Amino acid sequence: MTTGKRISAFNEELCDLCGQCFHLCPVLQLPLEESKKEIERLIKRKESKYVLSKCNTCFSCNLYCPQNANPYQLILERWNDKYKKRGAPPLYKFVCPTEVPNIWQLLNIFLSNQERKWIFDWMSYTPNPEDTILIIGNYTHLFPFILGGSKLLDFFKPIDLIDQWEGGAYLYQGGYLDVVQKIAEKCKTDFDKWDVKNIAHTVDAVQYIFSEVHRKEMGVNHNRDFINFNDWMLNSLKSGELPITNKLNFSVTIHDNCYSKALSGKYWDPPRKILEMCGCEIKEMKHIKKDSLCCGFGAGASWVRNSSIPFDLISEGCKKFKEAEETGAKALVSYCSGCLYLLWATRELIGSKIDLYHIIEIVRMAMGEQLQYPEQHIKRAWDIIAIITYQLIISILQNNFFIKRISYDKNKSTFKPKHHLLLKLIRTLFRSEIIRKIFRKLFLLQMTILKTR
Ligand code: SF4
Ligand code: SF4
Repeated sequence: MTTGKRISAFNEELCDLCGQCFHLCPVLQLPLEESKKEIERLIKRKESKYVLSKCNTCFSCNLYCPQNANPYQLILERWNDKYKKRGAPPLYKFVCPTEVPNIWQLLNIFLSNQERKWIFDWMSYTPNPEDTILIIGNYTHLFPFILGGSKLLDFFKPIDLIDQWEGGAYLYQGGYLDVVQKIAEKCKTDFDKWDVKNIAHTVDAVQYIFSEVHRKEMGVNHNRDFINFNDWMLNSLKSGELPITNKLNFSVTIHDNCYSKALSGKYWDPPRKILEMCGCEIKEMKHIKKDSLCCGFGAGASWVRNSSIPFDLISEGCKKFKEAEETGAKALVSYCSGCLYLLWATRELIGSKIDLYHIIEIVRMAMGEQLQYPEQHIKRAWDIIAIITYQLIISILQNNFFIKRISYDKNKSTFKPKHHLLLKLIRTLFRSEIIRKIFRKLFLLQMTILKTR
């Protein structure tokens, strides 16, 4: 395997230390003078006072920077330095497909037979060069029912590789840049082996990572055509290739994910046009597009204590639900399945009543396809809450770790679950509405205690 050279996207020569980045940051909102000192501390590798322990990795500071210096990537570099010294928190094994146990492995315990069959088919397909493949991706894998059985799949050969790590998208946001570089190499090996030209991905963050980050920051050029799935859906709706037979006639509000802020916001408009074509009225939240708040996932990047991570994540997600509910819209729509899994967990933990859809589900409903909504999502949200709870408990006895392997051993796969009796017990308890209510109360109480510390 060839090794590309990593190139930092932060441009120190352009930075004039104006401090706008962390002054305008929706999370930090530092006084201007303090912001100037903080950027200088980061550049000079001095101890950060705010950013590295509070940033939500939302991408906005790159859009606030008048010099286009990319302060966001400076933050990622400093987290990368920290990772090299202290490792990753044990709870992070949750999203590492080569660590045991991880969410994909544990979720196998709870998948329906239909979901297992879809996943088996997607995981066992070997592409041919003439295929237009659709990479399902690690996060859409958590909700196979979003796409499984849909006519949308007739246009692609779906493939599902857990050890492509979404191209490293979520690790990139956490600043695990050296690991992302290895993932970029692994993806290149896969793509070269298949020799496919056209590659679509269900998450536009990953399309961005494949086409931009791997090439410009990881020194890995795939030389493939990466199709943006939202662009494809929009064009197919316009051409009539995807016929709308059931205009939806309800109001929605849109969650702009952190990665949507890349490339000067080229990802913001297609989802809005899709929703309008499907008959939705859009009611925007207070913070949208360049100012959009994170779903909560990014709060884990600036972790300080392993045991606080789930509470930090949900605490940030609460802000999103508050803004979404204030719009009066019937539904909140996400066009990122990474955000969707955390938003569903948050919705169940805070007891929000707003509907929550992936944009693919909106298109499917407008095409007249039937969904088992919200039953499948509520079940999956509690599967995931059970898995997070289980991993939090077992991580108490574990140490920080370093991600050493990118691919998993197919013969001794970390993808196959073992017994995990405690997890099964937790999930069984979560079938009871009384237990869910008690758990919600305890979770929110602990979240409040940690916030006031
Ligand atoms: S990435 Fe977002 S939260 Fe982090 S410093 Fe930049 S604007 Fe603030
Ligand atoms: S990164 Fe940009 S916004 Fe931040 S201090 Fe430098 S020039 Fe100013």
